Amino acid sequence: MSQAFNAVKTGEEDLLCRSYSRYPLAIARGKGARLWDVDGKEYVDLLAGIAVVGLGHCNDEVCEALERQSRKLWHVSNLFYQQEQLDLARLLLATSHHGKAFFCNSGAEANEACIKLARRYMRTIKQRDAYEIITLEGCFHGRTLGALAATGRESLSKGFTPLPEGFRQVPAGDLAALRAAVTPATAAVLVEVVQGEGGVVPLPADYLHGVEALCREKDIIFLCDEVQAGLCRTGKFWAFQNYDLKPDAISVAKSLANGLPMGAMLATDELARGFEAGSHATTFGGGALLSAAAAKTVEIMQRDHLAERAAALGARLKEQLAALQQRLPGKIREVRGLGLMVGIELTEQGPKVWEDLLHQGFICNLSHGTTLRLLPPLTIEQADLDDFVRLLEQILQKA
Ligand code: PLP
Repeated sequence: MSQAFNAVKTGEEDLLCRSYSRYPLAIARGKGARLWDVDGKEYVDLLAGIAVVGLGHCNDEVCEALERQSRKLWHVSNLFYQQEQLDLARLLLATSHHGKAFFCNSGAEANEACIKLARRYMRTIKQRDAYEIITLEGCFHGRTLGALAATGRESLSKGFTPLPEGFRQVPAGDLAALRAAVTPATAAVLVEVVQGEGGVVPLPADYLHGVEALCREKDIIFLCDEVQAGLCRTGKFWAFQNYDLKPDAISVAKSLANGLPMGAMLATDELARGFEAGSHATTFGGGALLSAAAAKTVEIMQRDHLAERAAALGARLKEQLAALQQRLPGKIREVRGLGLMVGIELTEQGPKVWEDLLHQGFICNLSHGTTLRLLPPLTIEQADLDDFVRLLEQILQKA
C-alpha cells in the first residue's frame, strides 16, 4: 500500500466512527465513468457510488446548474415557498402517475415518508386503525429505525433493538404467504421491484402483478422502493414501469441529484391527502441548491433518453455475460438484473475475482460473497463494458 493511501487509512482510524468496512482504495478524483485514487491510478467505475452518480462523476451541466444556483439561493427552510422545489416536482411528476411530491435527504427518509403517509392516510382518511407494513425477505429499505424495522434483517438490527412495532415480513415471491399475512391491521405492502442490496434479485412479473392486485382487493396501500432501481437504471424511468404497475407511492433517492443527498416520495393525489400541514417535515428537504441540481439531473436523464440507453447497454451486457457463462462452464451460476442493474452470481471465489478486478482497474461491488453487482453510470461507454467482460473472462479462466 502506498504512503498516500496509508495516510488516509490511518487518519480514518483516528478520526471516524468504525461503522464502515472500506475497500482498499482512497479516491481523489472522478470524471464520467472514471475514478482516480490518491496515487493517480485510474479505474473504470462500474458502481457509480452505489447507483448514485447516474450521469457520471462531476457532470458539467449539473456543475453549472449548481454554480448558478449557489450564487442565488442555497437554503431558507420549508417555512418558505420556493420555485426550485416546484420546478423539480413538475419534472419528476411528469414521469409517473403520481400527483404530489415530498422532498427529503436520503433513501431511508423517503421510505420513512412512505410509511408515515400510509399509516396516517389509513387513520385519518380511511378511519381504519391499520398501521402494519408488510415487506419481503431479502429487501433493504435503509438504516433509520423505521426503515431498519421494514428491512427486518437481524444482522443489521443487532444491538439496536427495540425497533418500532408494526412491521411484518414474508418470503419474496410467495403470494399465498402475503395473502395470509394481511390482516385488518395492515396498512401497506412495500416492495423493491429489483432487490438491490439483496443481491440484484428481480421479482417475477406475475408475482408483482399479484401483489398489486391483492393490495387493491384488500384496499391497502401499494408502495414501491425505487431508491436503487429508479431513475432510469432498469431501462424505464421507474422500475415499476417495466411491469405497468401503479404503486400508490414510491421512495426515491440515490441518483436524484447525481451525488448530492436528496430523496423524495412521490404519491398519488389520493394518498397524499394523508398529510396535512405540520404532519411531516425535514429541515433540508428540497432546499433550493439541491433542488436545482436534481432538476438538471432529471432533465438530462429525459433529454438524453438514459432509460432507453440503460435498457440497450444492459441487454447487451447480459447477452455477453450469458455467452461467457456458456464458454466457461461451472464458473457463473446466474446472470440477473434489469437494464444497468446487473448481478453476476459466481459459483466460487467471489472475493478473489472481485479483488482481481479491482487491481486491474475495474470497480464493482461484491454482494453476499458471491455476486458481482454492477451499477455503472447510465452514461458509461459500451467500450468500458466490453473491456469489463473481456477482463472478467481472463480472471475466471484462471480462477
Ligand atoms: N432503499 C433501497 C432499495 C436501497 O438500496 C437503499 C440504500 O442502499 C436505501 C433504501 C437506503 O438509502 P439511504 O442509504 O440513502 O438511506
